[in-house]
Amino acid sequence: MDPGPERPTAAPPSDAIVLFDGTSLAAWQSPDGTPAKWLVRDGSVEVAPGTGPLVTKRAFGDVQLHLEWAAPTPPAGEGQERGNSGVFLMTHYEIQVLDGYHNDTYADGAAAAVYGQTPPLANACRPPGQWQTYDIVFHRPRFAPDGAVRDSARVTVLHNGVLVQDNTVITGWTVHAERARYRPHADRLPLLLQDHGNRVRYRDIWIRELPGP
Ligand code: MG
Repeated sequence: MDPGPERPTAAPPSDAIVLFDGTSLAAWQSPDGTPAKWLVRDGSVEVAPGTGPLVTKRAFGDVQLHLEWAAPTPPAGEGQERGNSGVFLMTHYEIQVLDGYHNDTYADGAAAAVYGQTPPLANACRPPGQWQTYDIVFHRPRFAPDGAVRDSARVTVLHNGVLVQDNTVITGWTVHAERARYRPHADRLPLLLQDHGNRVRYRDIWIRELPGP
């Protein structure tokens, strides 16, 4: 389906934590604590292939997240090798970023899939090079003191304004080609952006912490 043309960015809500405003990676670092190594230019940040993911310095639990991404143009590669990155909520739960514009791949690896678990309800991709939005509402998992899963994580995703995940239950940590399962973790963990070797760009990243139950 066609989600309509790309749109200019809008100012974030006044209570949002701005994670990337187009100029600074001050909110981010590499997972080993060294400075973030991706490339900031022209108001966006681009994956520097081979440098690894970016993680936020702050940790988050239940959140509303807005970000925009653009796949490389001209497109190169096929399937999972075309414009692949990912938004990992709490470091472990991936909402797939992929150039899904006339690019076939397996259903639960598509753009806006809960990777390896749940395909998106629609393919709302714009062509590579155009800016695309993800608006995500995420509720973290709750663990009992013995580590058992009391409540699974849930996620709602709008891709370019189109509902593609509707309060979807997340079944565990993101894994490739195996059944996901949970392992207990802290109530707050960093947001992570994936380096999958493709020069995906991001801009306008902000987050709002939601009150937990
Ligand atoms: Mg990915």
